[in-house]
Amino acid sequence: MTKAELLRAPSPPLDWKYAPSRESTEIVSLNERYGLFIDGKFQAPLSKKYFPTINPATEEPLAEVAEAGERDVNRAVKAARSAYDDSWGSMPGKERAKYLFRIARMVQERSRELAVLETMDGGKPIKESRDVDLPLVAAHFFYYAGWADKLEYAFPGLDPQPLGVAGQVIPWNFPMMMLAWKVAPALATGNTVVLKPAETTPLSALTFAALAAEAGLPPGVLNVITGAGATGSSLVNHGDVDKVAFTGSTAVGKLIRSSLAGTGKKVTLELGGKAAHVIFDDAPMDQAIEGVINGIFFNQGHVCCAGSRLFVQESIHDRFVDKLKRRLSTLRVGDPLDKNTDVGAINSAEQLAKISELVEIGRAEGAEMFQPDCVLPRNGFFFRPTLFTGVSQSHRIAQEEIFGPVLSIMSFRTPEEAIEKANNTPYGLSAGVWTSKGSRILWMADRLRAGVVWANTYNKFDPASPFGGYKESGFGREGGRHGLLAYLKGIT
Ligand code: NDP
Repeated sequence: MTKAELLRAPSPPLDWKYAPSRESTEIVSLNERYGLFIDGKFQAPLSKKYFPTINPATEEPLAEVAEAGERDVNRAVKAARSAYDDSWGSMPGKERAKYLFRIARMVQERSRELAVLETMDGGKPIKESRDVDLPLVAAHFFYYAGWADKLEYAFPGLDPQPLGVAGQVIPWNFPMMMLAWKVAPALATGNTVVLKPAETTPLSALTFAALAAEAGLPPGVLNVITGAGATGSSLVNHGDVDKVAFTGSTAVGKLIRSSLAGTGKKVTLELGGKAAHVIFDDAPMDQAIEGVINGIFFNQGHVCCAGSRLFVQESIHDRFVDKLKRRLSTLRVGDPLDKNTDVGAINSAEQLAKISELVEIGRAEGAEMFQPDCVLPRNGFFFRPTLFTGVSQSHRIAQEEIFGPVLSIMSFRTPEEAIEKANNTPYGLSAGVWTSKGSRILWMADRLRAGVVWANTYNKFDPASPFGGYKESGFGREGGRHGLLAYLKGIT
């Protein structure tokens, strides 16, 4: 063929499919077995029990971790109490700050390793753990390190003092981030900590504990005990714990609140949500579609503030839903370690069963389901991004927290109707509004019963910005100056 003929020949259609781009796991070195991190070192559990933690994307075991029994919890609380009495509680803020700054820098230095570990143990896409979770973890430590020597300026005239030992229980959806939200303000204010990560995602907290020891944090200031719900329960009910901070389900939050009533312990609860995401007809549609996608499919929808109820103004409802379906079909579901993956693995078989059950209930109640035609990996726990139209307020999928990649879509005509429907929930954690009118944003924000209202964006987090809920979403704030209050005596 001559050059001219070659140039004229029709070229084969370009293949625009993504090539695999898998993050290496070599950067992570796992132990076969992890003890409990108590008093500055890993110790075998007195319970002598261990349980496996698996990779939810492959179902392969990653390591064994200790199950802390009551005597182990006791040991950890004792270590935290001694560290509080002997050094940390009375250490000048500017000294405490040095440790926190050092930890923040070390998290930054090791952020790739920690992100890969988080993805392996929890199933979230690497692009999220790498670009969202870990940067926010470091930012939280930097932010609260900055407050450690300025508490008297944060609360002038109030003589801010630490509470003592904080018992902290965190969930599996943002293991490192929830650790940072709890540990950083507690240490900055002079408290010592016993932390229990979730049963399915203990590895990043254990690695963090070793990192904190490497940073020189005095023994006992941070203790990490692994185990299931019973371990969490022993910790929060321990008589020598002064402060309880819990993030998790509303059911467990209620249990904790009732068992702590009358004990005098300071408590903060960050519980479930069923956030309303409201789209007005004057919203920039393509941006709003991206906001909705991020609102519900970020972290497979395992997000307490996920925008799981979508309210679209009737005049644009059909067009918006069509566009949304098209966008849903472009989401890449699969290996969380692949840098192109948008929706990773569901955290556990139990959570997958819960999501599947609620989706079946949605269909049985008469809502219309749409799922893109994507191929799911053969092993591991995966669920297709799902949306429901024809949902009514009384449907369980419009009322209950599904905690998965499932969106319930409803419509409204007027702003008043949007408010009424958005607030028709026992929860009150977050909400989102999309409109081009600033005055309408303010009008809506005033009336939405939610701790956080995002306008023309969604899921934006910043350590300087307080986060927390109303009603069954809990109470207390994490982040910002408000986040210090939860760890200080006599200041509310
Ligand atoms: P849980 O509320 O059971 O778990 C949260 C944390 O609390 C975990 O560390 C858990 O330990 C611990 N825990 C469990 N029982 C007790 C107890 N009695 N006392 C003290 N601590 C306890 O949530 P699940 O993991 O069971 O998830 C169930 C549902 O909760 C999800 O489907 C979702 O709807 C919601 N959820 C909401 C979250 C949020 O951020 N709002 C976060 C996680 C879940 P262990 O992991 O070992 O059981």
